[in-house]
Amino acid sequence: MATALITGASSGIGEVFARRLAADGHDLVLVARTVERLEALAGALQAAHGGFVEVLPADLSDAAARARVEDRLRAPERPVELLVNNAGTAVDGRFPEVAVEALQAQLDLNVTTVLRLTHAALPGMLLRRRGAVVNVSSVAGFLPGTGTTYAASKAWVTSFSEGLAGLLAGTGVRVVVLCPGFTLTEANRRLRAERAPRSPDAVWLEPHRVVDECLADLRRGRVVSVPGLGYKAIVGLTRVLPRNLLRALGARANGGFT
Ligand code: NAP
Repeated sequence: MATALITGASSGIGEVFARRLAADGHDLVLVARTVERLEALAGALQAAHGGFVEVLPADLSDAAARARVEDRLRAPERPVELLVNNAGTAVDGRFPEVAVEALQAQLDLNVTTVLRLTHAALPGMLLRRRGAVVNVSSVAGFLPGTGTTYAASKAWVTSFSEGLAGLLAGTGVRVVVLCPGFTLTEANRRLRAERAPRSPDAVWLEPHRVVDECLADLRRGRVVSVPGLGYKAIVGLTRVLPRNLLRALGARANGGFT
């Protein structure tokens, strides 16, 4: 069965991708920083489904570590036919007040890694005329985020993926960009309990649903996957509301300097 490489597979949405794809019969390459979690997951998936699971620990904000993942994507043995660019981070705070090193590390992970891993994976996929790339973006990428550069990084991922999908049409290689809203990962379950215990259930997406909708959209040939009716409506609104109104709403939500 085809091999899938998933970044950020040690927790959250990436771990759910790993579990779903292993259950569907894929062999896997699991990438993240925490070796113990990756190895525990690999052992569990191999025991449950019998596929081949490689563990490739790497800090994807680090160019040298990332190069090892690029090399794996170029390797002809057990070629990677599905790349899931999921690892991402969100730095909190207002732009001028946040350490520039943290913003750079976020850009390296959220943008440079997506660019470089996709660039490494595509030539082999095009040669085989088969393969797919799933880029995990966010609903935030449709909105002007004044507070941090997270929204800007996700706007890049969405725009990049849409452009690439057009370029690759008819090649046998597909691209889908997954744009979830708030998703109840382990970390967000804890965050919700601490900071927003009264937030309505409707705001939150189940990670399994997010992953299943994305893979269904990939099979259907959709390029932009926005799980959940509520978030589909929000994205629809961002496309019809005047941009200056969206900017004003964003500024109000994030708080200005005055
Ligand atoms: P998460 O639970 O925090 O998991 C992030 C994953 O990325 C972990 O496996 C983490 O593993 C890995 N990772 C983080 N920094 C890394 C680095 N420098 N190098 C390699 N791996 C790294 O995140 P999530 O909420 O599932 O988010 C996954 C993706 O969905 C992200 O791109 C995020 O922006 C997007 N998203 C999430 C939500 C949401 O509400 N959860 C909404 C919209 C979009 P290690 O710590 O072991 O490295």
